[in-house]
Amino acid sequence: MNHPDLYLLIDGKRLKGEGRRTQAIINPATGEELAQLPLATPADLDRALEAAQRAWPVWRALGPHQRGRILHKAAALLRERGDAIARLATVEEGKVLAQARIELEVSAETLDWYAEEGRRAYGRVLPQRMPGVRMTVVREPVGPVAGFAPWNFPLGNPARKLGAALGAGCSVIMKPAEEAPGCALAVAQALVDAGVPDGVLSVVFGVPAEVSQHLLASPVIRAISFTGSTVVGKQLAGLAAATMKRTTMELGGHAPVLVFDDVDVDAVLDMAVTSKFRNSGQVCVSPTRFYVHEAIYDRFAAGFAERAKSLQVGNGFDADVKMGPLAHARRLPAVSGLIDEAVQRGAKALTGAKALPGKGFFYAPTVLSDVPDTARIMNEEPFGPVAVLSRFSTFDEAIAKANRLPYGLAAYAFTQNARRVNLLGEQIESGMLGINSFVIAMPEAPFGGVKESGHGSEEGIEGLEACLVTKFITES
Ligand code: NAD
Repeated sequence: MNHPDLYLLIDGKRLKGEGRRTQAIINPATGEELAQLPLATPADLDRALEAAQRAWPVWRALGPHQRGRILHKAAALLRERGDAIARLATVEEGKVLAQARIELEVSAETLDWYAEEGRRAYGRVLPQRMPGVRMTVVREPVGPVAGFAPWNFPLGNPARKLGAALGAGCSVIMKPAEEAPGCALAVAQALVDAGVPDGVLSVVFGVPAEVSQHLLASPVIRAISFTGSTVVGKQLAGLAAATMKRTTMELGGHAPVLVFDDVDVDAVLDMAVTSKFRNSGQVCVSPTRFYVHEAIYDRFAAGFAERAKSLQVGNGFDADVKMGPLAHARRLPAVSGLIDEAVQRGAKALTGAKALPGKGFFYAPTVLSDVPDTARIMNEEPFGPVAVLSRFSTFDEAIAKANRLPYGLAAYAFTQNARRVNLLGEQIESGMLGINSFVIAMPEAPFGGVKESGHGSEEGIEGLEACLVTKFITES
């Protein structure tokens, strides 16, 4: 298929090459160049800032009902264009087409959610202190938002950033990942075609550090929402602090999975393998450290390896394929470096532990057993198709292992014991906890972490909150 036009969307205009620097967009399954992406100049970014400032009052004045109608219409357009857009996610990011279709539907649901939730930005009236005095609390849009969306959910991440800001009545400048630009533009274009006025929504690409530095230095931007690594999140939080901008930071994770000895081992394995290797493990809430009770450890490890070995890896367009490539060339050395180091430190590679031949960026589904805590992979987010297994004997030991890292995004536990479930809910340090389930992301539920996994939540009512400020008004 021909790759769609790539452009900067600024103040309602599509800006292409025209002397700008460009960057090659690569199909990660084949290594082939798909297109050249124009990168924003400082003047482009200033134009986007000026438009966001000018258009914000226009969007705000439309009110939540009219804004909601536009967001609903954009969701309908996404569904209408669904097949072509899902294919774009597979070609740009490498994910399996069936998963891209699910992501497309969830992206539409996210816009629908914010279309509705924007109407519920309720304030309150405080009890009078004396007759004739009225005291009210109102919620207002925070103002122009800068959203930084990564490549791993190239439709879902932009839908979250844009849905929250637009639903709350803010204008927004989004910098999506340069690796999957067509996907982000498809989401933005659905919103524009549904009636979002010029300037309310801009999409810019560029050298990430240059763009974030430029946008965050501007007083126009009142809040930022970043999804990406903890290292970059800390840099952006520092830049935001200089002008006291609000921040939502959805950063790295290293999700522990506690598997107790009272579970149906095969049923947990079936779920674990599907969840671990979804999007080649390039998911911030991907289950990573599997702490398994010693009574079932050997069976669990053997079953994990057997299932991982039989997974069909290949181009996401092929019907039998269950796992695609890594999303870009930098991921291969990053993932293999962590796995090789763990093996050098004594971990047993039960399957995988190697890149796969061919032109794309393929790495074999990998299961590592008896991984020592000192291995880097036990401490740094692998963001790849690797399950890391270790055993425990007591509940307290399992909790201590789960909580030992500075990360606290997602955690999972499998047990049939109700008392244990209760204690897990109290003692696990994470922003999200899946008990007997790996499904923790949906538009109506808050998605975010604690500790160095960030702060604030996307989605849920918290996602809207992040784009609102509170004003107290007293009248007498
Ligand atoms: P990377 O750090 O180069 O880029 C990750 C993302 O952050 C990209 O979308 C990139 O455009 C953006 N980014 C990088 N520097 C930036 C800056 N200074 N300003 C604004 N945006 C910036 O790493 P990568 O190799 O592309 O991805 C690997 C790592 O990124 C993973 O280890 C993972 O921790 C993290 N990541 C996290 C998520 C998530 O969902 N939380 C998604 C993708 C990547």
